[in-house]
Amino acid sequence: MLDSYAIIGNPVSHSKSPLIHTAFAQQTSQAMQYVALLAPLDGFQATVQDFRQRDGKGLNVTVPFKLEAYQLATRLTERASIAQAVNTLKFENGEILGDNTDGIGLVRDIECNLGIAIAGKRVLLMGAGGAAQGVILPLLQRQPALLAIANRTPEKAAALRKQFSTYGNIAAGDFMFFTDEHFDIIINATSASLHNTMPELHSSVFTHTLLAYDMMYQHEPTPFLKFARQHGAQQIADGIGMLVEQAAESFFLWREIRPQTESVIMMLKSKRH
Ligand code: NDP
Repeated sequence: MLDSYAIIGNPVSHSKSPLIHTAFAQQTSQAMQYVALLAPLDGFQATVQDFRQRDGKGLNVTVPFKLEAYQLATRLTERASIAQAVNTLKFENGEILGDNTDGIGLVRDIECNLGIAIAGKRVLLMGAGGAAQGVILPLLQRQPALLAIANRTPEKAAALRKQFSTYGNIAAGDFMFFTDEHFDIIINATSASLHNTMPELHSSVFTHTLLAYDMMYQHEPTPFLKFARQHGAQQIADGIGMLVEQAAESFFLWREIRPQTESVIMMLKSKRH
């Protein structure tokens, strides 16, 4: 029988994770299947328990359940514990292990795939939800000159600043708070792009921007990426690379084998044209 994995979210039908993990499984000859699992907004825990009872081995967790997944885990990796958000669950020996691979996925994509070192850079991270929480520590570990966190609800950004202040130089505010500042790397970790809109960011922040990065991925550049390119960002990238890199790290946690990512990123990009 094939080992069973899934991505759980709401919405989830747009997810590329089944395609990615199926490609990883073929590449590494793993006997597993991977599907998309839609959970009702008030039914995350029940859907996970049902999946476990059907002998499911592990889940990826997407919008809006990463904070609930953190609470559901009975054991956490250090990075998930510090992030207080979980994007990967592994079921073994009656336990629910929670991990967070978003951060390492983002950092690998920016540094290894896009070739931009984070050390010494001024980085603006927009958003304070599960995705943002998961990437703060790995970003700070690369030693940027500053990590500014901007969020529509600024109190949430301030709380994250407090939570992570021992790990590096962090500022926090709403989007307009950073109007007079310039950033080398600007990352959109809000879900605004899901609704085809963008945070209310002033165009002047892009003047010296090397990279504008949107964690969201779709056929067309998102409104944020279009705006960034229009106002001076040298390079723009969507979250396809991050998605594949974080998936590879989850796959490694589950199967203890590390798949190649480059061909899978290329396969996904080619499907866009
Ligand atoms: P959450 O629901 O946990 O958080 C949503 C965040 O977006 C909050 O900070 C919220 O602000 C903000 N937001 C929502 N709508 C708007 C808007 N119209 N304008 C400004 N801010 C807004 O979602 P996640 O953090 O889990 O996911 C965020 C995005 O990242 C999603 O698009 C997701 O697909 C993507 N993602 C991509 C990954 C990849 O591998 N490429 C991995 C993980 C996530 P507020 O606090 O004020 O409500």
